[in-house]
Amino acid sequence: MKLELRGITKRFGSLVANDSIDLVVESGEIHCLLGENGAGKSTLMNVLSGLYRAEEGEILLDGVRQHFAGPGDAMTAGIGMVHQHFMLIPVFTVAENIILGHETTRAGGRLDLDAARKLVREISARFGFELDPDAKVEDLPVGVQQRVEIIKAIGRDAEVLVFDEPTAVLTPQETDDLMAIMRELAESGTTIVFITHKLREVREVADRITVIRLGKVVGEAEPSASNAELAALMVGRDVQLTVSKEPAQPGATALEVRNLTVFDSNGHKVVDDVSFDVHAGEILAIAGVQGNGQSELVEALLGARKQVTGDIVLDGNSLVGSSVHEVLRAGVGFVPEDRKTQGLVGEFSIAENLMLDRSTGEPFVRHGAIQRETLDTFAVEKVQEFDVRAPGIDTPVGRLSGGNQQKVVLARELSRELRLFVASQPTRGIDVGSIEFVHKRIVATRDSGVPVIVVSSELDEVAALADRIAVMYRGTIVGIVPAQTSREVLGMMMGGEHD
Ligand code: ADP
Ligand code: MG
Repeated sequence: MKLELRGITKRFGSLVANDSIDLVVESGEIHCLLGENGAGKSTLMNVLSGLYRAEEGEILLDGVRQHFAGPGDAMTAGIGMVHQHFMLIPVFTVAENIILGHETTRAGGRLDLDAARKLVREISARFGFELDPDAKVEDLPVGVQQRVEIIKAIGRDAEVLVFDEPTAVLTPQETDDLMAIMRELAESGTTIVFITHKLREVREVADRITVIRLGKVVGEAEPSASNAELAALMVGRDVQLTVSKEPAQPGATALEVRNLTVFDSNGHKVVDDVSFDVHAGEILAIAGVQGNGQSELVEALLGARKQVTGDIVLDGNSLVGSSVHEVLRAGVGFVPEDRKTQGLVGEFSIAENLMLDRSTGEPFVRHGAIQRETLDTFAVEKVQEFDVRAPGIDTPVGRLSGGNQQKVVLARELSRELRLFVASQPTRGIDVGSIEFVHKRIVATRDSGVPVIVVSSELDEVAALADRIAVMYRGTIVGIVPAQTSREVLGMMMGGEHD
C-alpha cells in the first residue's frame, strides 16, 4: 500500500510541530524518518495513526484520500503502530493480548483464544522466532514483548506499519533481529515507516530516507549517504561524530566498589554483588540495556538507596550510609539520567539552577540572603563557557531545549572541586550538536585527572567515551572489558552471555 502525506501541518499552541510535511512511502518500502529529538517525527506518526488531527494537509493510501476521526479509523484503513512504550497488558498472556488488539480487525471478526494461539504460532514461525502464546507478557524480555506488538499489528492486517524508535529498548542482537523482521515484512509487501535518530540503523535497513528538522522536511537521502552527510542534514551543520581523545593516563585507584548489593523496597536484589574500581583520569563506562540495575547502582553510589550491603570507598573513605548531600559534599559530581525531575527545577532561572546545590552558604548566600551580583556574574560566565543557548540567565530552565538544559546541569556539576564524576545517560534526548559538546566536556574532565563513570545504554556513546567498559545484565556485572571490545561481544554480554 502506497502512503502519501501531503502538506501536513500540526500545531501545539504557537509551536508548529509539523510544518507542511510531505512524505511519500512506496508499497513494500522501508522508509526511515530521521530527525533529532523534538523534530516532529512522533507527531507526524500520531497524525497518521489518527491520534492527532492535523490543521492542514491530507493522508492518501493508494491514492485515496483518508478521513481519520480516530485511531480506530486508521487501523481499519490498514495502519499499524509499534509504539516505543508498549500498549500491552502485562498480566495477560501473549494470546490474550493479541485478542484484545483484534477488536477492530479489517475483516471485522473476533478471535477466540485458540485462533489467537494459532496466529501467534504462525507469525512466529514465519519470522523464525520462538514465542509461547501462553506466556505472560510481564515475564518476557522487552525485545520479545516488542514482537508481541508486531504480531498484534500483523494480525490486524496492517499494510502500513510504523515503528517509532523501536530500538531504544533493545540489545544490538535484538536490534539485528528486528531489522531482519522489517526486511521480511517489506519483502512480502508491507510498507514500513521506521523512525530513529540512529544513523547506523538507517544506513543498514532503509530503502529511502527522509530527514526532518524543526518540523520541516529538510532533505531526502539514499542509504548510501555517509554518516557525516546524514548528521549534517539532521542538525543543519557539520558535526564531529566521534570524540577525539588521547589515551587515558590512569592514576591511583580512586573509587572501590566491593560486593555491592542493592535491594528494592520489596527486598528484591536489583544490583547483585557488584565489584569494580575506577582510577583517577579514566572513564569507566557502564553499558547495558536500560533496566538492568544501572540506575539503582548509580543511586546507591550517590547515597539515594539505603538498602545496600557491601562497600563503596572513595579516596579511602566509605560512602555507605552517607546521605546524598554528604556524597555531593565529598566531591561527587552527578549528571542524573532524568534531568527534568532530578537535575533541574524547571520554573527556576538558569542562574538559580546553577546554585541549587550551594543554596545554603558561600559564595552565593550570605546571612541568609542570595548574593545576586555574585550569582549573576557566575551565571553569565558559565552560560558562556558551557555554550548554553538562552535569551538570558533569568530564563526559566524549563523553557530551554534538552541539550541546553543538560549543559546547565554540566555547568553546575563541573564547577566544583571533584573527586568523582558520575554521568548517567548524559546525552539522552539531546540534539547531536549538544552531544558533541557534552562528550568533549566529559573527556576534558577525565583529562584533568578526575575518575569518571559514564552510564549509557547507547553503545555508540560507550565506544566514544570509555577507557574500560563494565557490562551490566540483570543486576550483575557480566564482565569488565577493554574499550576496543567489538560491538558483537558487547552485545552478547548485554544479553547476559560471557565466556
Ligand atoms: P520527535 O518524535 O521527533 O522527537 P515530537 O513529535 O515528539 O518529536 O515533538 C515535536 C515537538 O512538538 C516538540 O517540540 C515537542 O515538545 C512538541 N510536542 C509534541 N507533543 C506535544 C503535545 N502533546 N503538546 C505540546 N507539544 C508537543
Ligand atoms: Mg518521538
